[in-house]
Amino acid sequence: MEKDQKIVTRFAPSPTGFMHIGGVRTALFAYLLARKNKGTFLLRIEDTDKDREVKGSIQHIQDALSWLGITWDYGPDKPGPFGSCIQSERLASYHEYALKLIEKGLAYPDPYTPAEVEKFREDAKSAKEPFLYRKHRPAVIEKWDGKKPLRFKIPEIKRYHWHDVVRGDLEAGEDALDDFIIIKSDGFPTYNFAHIIDDLNMSVTHILRADEFISSTPRFLSLYEALKIKPPIFVTLPPILREDHTKKLGKRDGAKDVLEYRAEGYLPEAMLNVLALIGWNPGTTKELFTKEELINDFEIEKIQKSGGSFDEMKLDWFNHQYISKLSDEAFADHASTFLPEWMSTNSPVFRNSITLIREKITRFSDITKLFNKDGELAFLKEMPEYEPTMLLWKKEPSAKTSLNSLEGSLEIVTSVPDNTFTPDAIKVALWSYAETNGKGNVLWPLRVALTGQEKSPDPFVCASLLGKEETLKRMKNAISKLS
Ligand code: GLU
Repeated sequence: MEKDQKIVTRFAPSPTGFMHIGGVRTALFAYLLARKNKGTFLLRIEDTDKDREVKGSIQHIQDALSWLGITWDYGPDKPGPFGSCIQSERLASYHEYALKLIEKGLAYPDPYTPAEVEKFREDAKSAKEPFLYRKHRPAVIEKWDGKKPLRFKIPEIKRYHWHDVVRGDLEAGEDALDDFIIIKSDGFPTYNFAHIIDDLNMSVTHILRADEFISSTPRFLSLYEALKIKPPIFVTLPPILREDHTKKLGKRDGAKDVLEYRAEGYLPEAMLNVLALIGWNPGTTKELFTKEELINDFEIEKIQKSGGSFDEMKLDWFNHQYISKLSDEAFADHASTFLPEWMSTNSPVFRNSITLIREKITRFSDITKLFNKDGELAFLKEMPEYEPTMLLWKKEPSAKTSLNSLEGSLEIVTSVPDNTFTPDAIKVALWSYAETNGKGNVLWPLRVALTGQEKSPDPFVCASLLGKEETLKRMKNAISKLS
């Protein structure tokens, strides 16, 4: 890379399905490197394999990146000075370079039928030799009609040495080199060829990508040489492992669509933070990073060689941290999708419950559970239905004791002023009465009177959330059940 050259990175997904954690982490690192250096970040769609394309993927990729705030300077919606960012719209440029190779005698139409290739393969197998296309180069090269696949003729079979920012000095020998298809019979280029031409035309300076491309790098280097292109800087990202660290995280191990995390009520800040720490180590004990801090602190030299794991428990922890930082307003916004119809984010009850709910959830979808029929906050909906026997404290069940203590509590609660009907004030008012008469005997029937539930927050919190009027109403209802 030339001194003072502007850094250009790209994220180059194939639109073959949803975006998973691995893809987004690659995008994030490429984005951070570009932003840190005031460079350019491109989103290039590699749609040259029409059979594998999944409808809607291009939009999905953009939605996933947008959710996380990973913005691109040029992308499928924003062509650059070099033209479209969608490979299927750049076919002319691949053909131009293919013709250059043909002129140099470095590309030939593949003359063989699949059956013939199969025969070569079997012959190689019986001879216990690796099958190589380059051993079957046609003696006479036909003119390319654009219909046969075009194969690149590796000009020199030699050992390649190259440097990777993360992996260090790498090398591979002759066995890694074989003639490969650059333009398929349908006129579309292969990944091996297209990315090299695009990276050149888009002035990409750094390639950040997964480790599965290391073994093909000698072929890429051979093509760079043939076209007299200076290769970009290689930055191979470490694999993302399963939680148990045994294997690479695959779609089958629950590497799910990142937008599912949005649907479950994770915050993009938390996701971004977790992803950044998979295979990148800031070298300090700092764990919480805003996007701006990541941009500021990011260095490719600190990307680790060994894999890091993606762990939903870690994500939960980060999400909980970011949820606790939200303003009440923002909290209500996020919560609204998950609240039952009967609970509005504008209601005083909801506003009073925010602190409590915040402590109880790791993601916003947990709210649904809190408010559903058996949830801890179901009692907020309406006067609960329950059997009178529930009002008896299990350790010393006595209807008379429960009735007496509810009547005593009613008097005390009535005396707490409306405008300070807080959990603390209610607790202070009731505490000595509860201590004198037995905490279980007083607090159990009170809590059941308010909630009708086995499990709920403590009675002071419940009363405060319900408000004084509703609290007294529910207590009187319990008293009449026992009388
Ligand atoms: N289209 C390739 C993929 O989705 C991109 C690899 C690269 O970044 O060069 O895996």
